[in-house]
Formats: sequence, C-alpha cells, structure tokens
Amino acid sequence: MDSASMKLDGNALAGLLREIFSLEMTMARVTCGGCSKTGYLGGLPAYVQAPGAVIRCPACDIAMMRIVHDNGHYWLDCRGTRSFQISKA
Ligand SMILES: [Zn+2]
Repeated sequence: MDSASMKLDGNALAGLLREIFSLEMTMARVTCGGCSKTGYLGGLPAYVQAPGAVIRCPACDIAMMRIVHDNGHYWLDCRGTRSFQISKA
C-alpha cells in the first residue's frame, strides 16, 4: 500500500477530535513553544481583558494560546504551544 492510498481528509479524525475537545482542558499539561516549560493549562497566567483571551508562559511570557469568540465562531491560535498532554479524568 503506497502513501497516496493511505491519505484521507480531516473528516477521518472527526471522532478523535470530538473526544479530545470535550475533555477538561484546564487539567491538560501544555509545553511552551518558546522555552519548553510545562505546566497545567489551568495554572498558567490568563489575560481576558483584550478582545480575546490570551494565555502566556510564566517563564518566557510568550503567548501560548489566543482564543477569540465572536458571533458564534471560535478562533483558537496555539502556535505558542509545542504540545498538549490531555488525559481522561
Ligand atoms: Zn515559555
């Protein structure tokens, strides 16, 4: 089987994505993309006075996550986060 025949589209991940995004995210361990510090999402500094919410790394101050909610749409920018470790309760 070659790689082209194994290629699907994002719909193939629908069930997995639904499972991940329904979990308690404040208990997720996140790793900073700037300095590699790891901590629980719920314990990171959060700023909610902007048009959106920003979560910053307590060590290097990089914006790890940005979340904007407007008119029924959510924008989630995690480019400052290297990884999430999300566990089922
Ligand atoms: Zn950092």
